[in-house]
Amino acid sequence: MEEKTIQIAGSITVDELATALGLSVTELIGTLFKNGIVATINQRLDFETASIIIDELGLKNVKLERKNTSTKTSDFHRELSDKAITRPPVVAVMGHVDHGKTTLLDTLLHKKTVEGEAGGITQHISAYQLKHNDRLITFLDTPGHEAFAAIRQHGAMLTDIVVIVVAADDGVKPQTIEAINFAKSANAKIIVAINKIDREGADINRTMADLSQQGLQPEEWGGDIVMVPVSAKQNQNLDKLLDMILLTADIEELKADVDIPAEGLVIESHMETGKGSVVNLLVTGGELKTGEFIVAGSTYGKIRTMLDWQGKPKGKATPSTPVTVTGFKDLPNFGDRFVEVSDEKTARKMALLNAQAIADETASANVTGSDLLRMMNVADNSKIFNVIIKGDVLGSVTSVVDSLKLIDTHGEVTLNIVSTGVGDISENDVYMAAGENTVIYGFNVSVPINISKMAARDNVPIRTYKVIYELLDDAKHEMENLLDAEIVEEDKGELKVLGVFRTEKTSIIAGGEVLTGDVRPEYLARVIRDKKYLGEAEVTSVQKEKIDAKELVAGETGGLALKTESKIDLQIGDRLKFFTRESKKRTL
Ligand code: GDP
Repeated sequence: MEEKTIQIAGSITVDELATALGLSVTELIGTLFKNGIVATINQRLDFETASIIIDELGLKNVKLERKNTSTKTSDFHRELSDKAITRPPVVAVMGHVDHGKTTLLDTLLHKKTVEGEAGGITQHISAYQLKHNDRLITFLDTPGHEAFAAIRQHGAMLTDIVVIVVAADDGVKPQTIEAINFAKSANAKIIVAINKIDREGADINRTMADLSQQGLQPEEWGGDIVMVPVSAKQNQNLDKLLDMILLTADIEELKADVDIPAEGLVIESHMETGKGSVVNLLVTGGELKTGEFIVAGSTYGKIRTMLDWQGKPKGKATPSTPVTVTGFKDLPNFGDRFVEVSDEKTARKMALLNAQAIADETASANVTGSDLLRMMNVADNSKIFNVIIKGDVLGSVTSVVDSLKLIDTHGEVTLNIVSTGVGDISENDVYMAAGENTVIYGFNVSVPINISKMAARDNVPIRTYKVIYELLDDAKHEMENLLDAEIVEEDKGELKVLGVFRTEKTSIIAGGEVLTGDVRPEYLARVIRDKKYLGEAEVTSVQKEKIDAKELVAGETGGLALKTESKIDLQIGDRLKFFTRESKKRTL
């Protein structure tokens, strides 16, 4: 049989799939119907559903392939020409909360920028550049900074070096490990800043030992990871850290071509009254100039103004330079790749093509694989967690959404993102959430007083956060609450029935000898006869020598009162196997 490959970008309509398979639409709809899906010709099926249906049809010669139409994928690491020039390293500072990332960046910023210049910056800075030994270093501080996973998805593989900050008095912590994993998966070089060495209790050696356990061997001990003991607060040894960053950059021979059309990544975007879209870009190749046309995702624009990270006009931005531009028609997404094109017509056309590709890829399938599995498997009682996400900038919204999607609920809870948006919580958000059991999450946004009143009236929970992790933790707990509890049973003992005094519809009074363990009033019992299970009973009281007792232990004989759901005809010689049953809340 001839092999056939069908490419699916995100989802495919019933009509398209039928055509691709050479089946009639009716035949395909029939198969879907047999699997519990009532579909129409224009219904979209996701990749998993299509695969399951092809299996069902027994079409072994058909292969499905995911078509990658994304314009977001980072293909920055293109082949360099021999004209490529050295560029500044792009550095991200990461580490466990409170280990001193902010202090480190602040101190560096004050140290390396002329006093007063830095003071004027009020907006959120997502990237900036410092000069050390007359060379530039670019620091990234993206809004999704904390959500490593999200950054990874958005192709921010442009980080050359990750400085991992570890407090010497606290050692390696969960977010330190996450940072290490991030750096590794982003293929970035790692430099460790062992911070807070001025503190009493700081133990550099122990911290290095901790790090070795995580696979980071310090150079001093013959490994390949540079570890610099510093005090971010007291400005100790920070020059050494910067020296090491530059040294690493030299070894890596970081280069970029400049005589190519400018390209790079969107690292932040938001709307400003009077200015329209304000977008932070990091140039990774070519030279970006005002007046040029650029395309990012499904939007484009002519660069109207371009400022450096300190807000000063910049005419030309070379590789590794962060700039803020205005002129985009619409807000591009955090993580979108941007490219320079020759004219407006090309820009418009390319943005349109990108929009189509993105729509194809993200076209929300009407029927998803999990829907299908749910329908096929009646026992699966998946639950839905509805959320609305609002954030101060697009980047933070994207990070929150991406990170939420990464919470693994073992397929038991379905996350349903009702809507997302930039800006304060609005009346519309509350409308959408009302009656639907939806939580509104706000990240770095406020809730106007009339809105919170409205939400209280409609019983809509609104929760705002300034730290992504806290938001994610809350969402995780909400999802945990939707999980079925885990039933934990513990065996307690066994009794041999020696006498049956009364059996009624829902109660039994009997006597016997405890063979193993013990029996107490709160225990449950399985009634077993010749290895056959007859039913379950609950012990309501225990008697020893005709007096109520707390327990009977192995070797003792006594009486029992049992409660049953339905009549069990207990007989001499039956065994009662005692156990306890607890339902335990599950965690994710
Ligand atoms: P972040 O959560 O990683 O950004 O941590 P911060 O920069 O906010 O620092 C957390 C706390 O540690 C603050 O109270 C800082 O003043 C303090 N801190 C940071 N670096 C040092 C340091 O080198 N020495 C001392 N003694 N305290 C520090």
